[in-house]
Amino acid sequence: MPNAGVSRADAAFLEGAEQGLLLIQRCGGCGVPRNPPAPMCGECGSVVQEYEPSPGRGRVVSWIRSRHPNRPDDPPTDVILVELEEGVRLVSNLVDVSGPGPFEDLEVVVDFRPVDGRILPVFRPAAEESPA
Ligand SMILES: [Zn+2]
Repeated sequence: MPNAGVSRADAAFLEGAEQGLLLIQRCGGCGVPRNPPAPMCGECGSVVQEYEPSPGRGRVVSWIRSRHPNRPDDPPTDVILVELEEGVRLVSNLVDVSGPGPFEDLEVVVDFRPVDGRILPVFRPAAEESPA
């Protein structure tokens, strides 16, 4: 059941991820970026929506280590709330970290990994892009 229960906005997000793009909804009227996607702009009332690839750079605002994974044998996952540089927040997973945290204010960059048969955006520490 590939897209069962997936809204149009989520479908755009997921299709972008398949192509390695982090698509963020932006108001077609006033240009304000927003997440989660909404059918109408809270700023100007426009119902025109655009999707724009995000550079995917941000920082961790909040995080939890999930010890109740979907499958009992999976290792714990770190679920994060990321604030992107363009000012929107999204929930994702943190990958490629060696320690148990804390991860507040960690600078992260988007990456794309297969999760349950889909390619989904996750975030990894930005520092690993340019090793000192
Ligand atoms: Zn607007």
